[in-house]
Amino acid sequence: MYVVALTGGIGSGKSEASKQFASLGVPVVDTDVIAHELAAAGSPLLKEVDRIFGADFFNADGTLNRTKLRTHIFSDANERVKLEQLMHPAIHQKALQTLQENEQKLHPAYQLLVVPLLFESNRYQSILNKTLVIDCDESLQISRAMGRSNLTADDVKKLMLAQTSRENRRDLADVIIDNSGTVSELAEKINEFHKKLIKTCIVSK
Ligand code: ADP
Repeated sequence: MYVVALTGGIGSGKSEASKQFASLGVPVVDTDVIAHELAAAGSPLLKEVDRIFGADFFNADGTLNRTKLRTHIFSDANERVKLEQLMHPAIHQKALQTLQENEQKLHPAYQLLVVPLLFESNRYQSILNKTLVIDCDESLQISRAMGRSNLTADDVKKLMLAQTSRENRRDLADVIIDNSGTVSELAEKINEFHKKLIKTCIVSK
């Protein structure tokens, strides 16, 4: 198995980059998507959230009030740790399982594992062959993240402060892809990266 981890700050273009990898036929395992699935209405994990945080964080239809929970954990570090201790091991386990299943079913040259907070823990380190950072300057991150959601600039800045710094991410990356141009320029860079990597994987597999 050859695994490339994709990371980057909020609004840097991880989702846009993942789409491009998927269009090239690369299996994409996204830990944010897994987190969403694990917190689907009625799931065992959601029952734990209910037990620990209480019914206040649920909508009338039993779904999680994600906005309320997010605001809550970003205003209280202890609460954030509690949620992370619940979610992260489950996400990690599901991600590994999906990678294994893809490997057996699809025999891909490599797989992409999308982990927004890759460098904030060393949870995935042992299974990674390469780390790829999608990068753009912070003002672009803010305007793009605002364009995608109803977050204010202050909200985005707060989320950025809860993540590792751009500088640290760039220091730790094996490869950095700059996303300050257009989406098609990003796609072109990913195509180049993909072509080179395929050759490496054929040799190392
Ligand atoms: P992330 O997943 O890293 O938070 P996204 O991929 O969702 O970031 O990008 C944030 C927003 O910016 C999205 O609306 C996306 O379509 C847009 N976007 C990403 N890359 C570019 C780009 N190169 N040019 C213009 N818009 C972009």
